[in-house]
Amino acid sequence: MMARALSADPPTLDRVSSPAYARPVPPRARRAAARGGSPFDPQETPLARTRRARRMARELALIHPDAHCELDFTNAFELLVATVLSAQTTDKTVNRVTPALFGKYPDARALAGADRAELEEILKPTGFFRAKANSVLGLARALLERFDGEVPGRMEDLVTLPGVGRKTANVVLGNAFDVPGLTVDTHFGRLVRRFGWTAEEDPVKVEAEVAELIPKRDWTMFSHRVIFHGRRVCHAKKAACGACGLARWCPSYGIGPTDPEVATKLVKTPAASDTE
Ligand code: SF4
Repeated sequence: MMARALSADPPTLDRVSSPAYARPVPPRARRAAARGGSPFDPQETPLARTRRARRMARELALIHPDAHCELDFTNAFELLVATVLSAQTTDKTVNRVTPALFGKYPDARALAGADRAELEEILKPTGFFRAKANSVLGLARALLERFDGEVPGRMEDLVTLPGVGRKTANVVLGNAFDVPGLTVDTHFGRLVRRFGWTAEEDPVKVEAEVAELIPKRDWTMFSHRVIFHGRRVCHAKKAACGACGLARWCPSYGIGPTDPEVATKLVKTPAASDTE
């Protein structure tokens, strides 16, 4: 214990997250969450929060061993376009249109020269299809004009592309380039706030705070696991707290049914998950 405390090395998930070092959630945070307040406890020390976060991250890895990117893709271009199309719709819907889309427009050059009416017809099931046709046409043209038709592998380049923010860039970097990235989507933000890891609402600030808690090498898979948990267990409206493996460390335990039988019925299987 003392050696850990005195060590100059930054703590890593492997070294600090054993159950013996992860205290259950502070009761005051759970009381605050039960009253509808923020479950973030400013009195929890950074070290205690880090240990608790890493313990929860390890538990998430056990709960969701199959976590992965739920958008279908075979290369960085397909993933980038699919991620842009996934705004305001489900991954399943995007996966239904992308075989036809990439069959017809397999790269940036082909997509940049697409006939708008034909493109809109393919994108129709994803909703907002006119705006999305505009987005992917603009994206393909920018790739062609500025990156020779290739998807760049750096955050600073990706975010200069039209319609590409940090969330989309992190999806592409993490899953197509093996560059660790935290994907702060609606599920991710909701869950890490419920976990009491941050009180921030701004995705960029959420990303920065979670980056302090979770080792960089784990960011991509950790993001998938959190998003899986949000889609299957910790739902926006009815969290399945009574069937949640994170309950011991989560200050928001109790915001959803705690009766195991009731909660288990709320857990969605991968097939039934909305993959939004
Ligand atoms: S389901 Fe309940 S216990 Fe589990 S992470 Fe969500 S709020 Fe916490």
